[in-house]
Amino acid sequence: MITIKKKKNSRALKDAVEALSGVDLSLCFQCKKCSNGCPVAKLATTRPSEIMWLLHLGAGDELLSKDLVWMCASCETCSARCPMGIDVAAVMDALRRLALERGAPKPKGNVPLFNRAFLKTVETFGRSYEIGMITAYKLGTGKLMNDTEKFPAMLKKGKIALLPPRGADRKTVKRIFRKSKESKGAKA
Ligand code: SF4
Ligand code: SF4
Repeated sequence: MITIKKKKNSRALKDAVEALSGVDLSLCFQCKKCSNGCPVAKLATTRPSEIMWLLHLGAGDELLSKDLVWMCASCETCSARCPMGIDVAAVMDALRRLALERGAPKPKGNVPLFNRAFLKTVETFGRSYEIGMITAYKLGTGKLMNDTEKFPAMLKKGKIALLPPRGADRKTVKRIFRKSKESKGAKA
């Protein structure tokens, strides 16, 4: 069961998410199509539709520590499936941004580590690079050889590439990361 703790900042979180994402949360009628298409919802303790509902009901900053906020892959399936045209992925982006800005406690486990590994490979290679990300993640967990049995088959079927992606505009991506770090530093 999910408990909503009414706090002083409840309204503020809903307003801040709406302002950052451009989404009108009151449009959601809980059809759950976003959750049914989400590739990570099964692994998380909450689902996109629940996040939408909790925000609408006035949940406070405890929502910023939900694991789905950090596990969301920004694939935008939820946004594409929503019959109301709600950009659910933008809501997730807004929640992550607010979690960082407000110093919300990170969920337990390796989700933040996975997030950092993903961002680091995008910053380095200009695009997502699975092997770089997996290596950084596994080095962080200290369990380099865990879950590696499917690796040869995935490689053989071309599911993951051995070499980094080509054609990415690395300079521009690096510049975006640098600007983002500078603006965070300015706010701190
Ligand atoms: S698909 Fe859209 S309307 Fe349906 S629950 Fe998700 S956000 Fe709400
Ligand atoms: S953008 Fe995030 S919340 Fe939406 S379907 Fe993809 S992983 Fe799930």
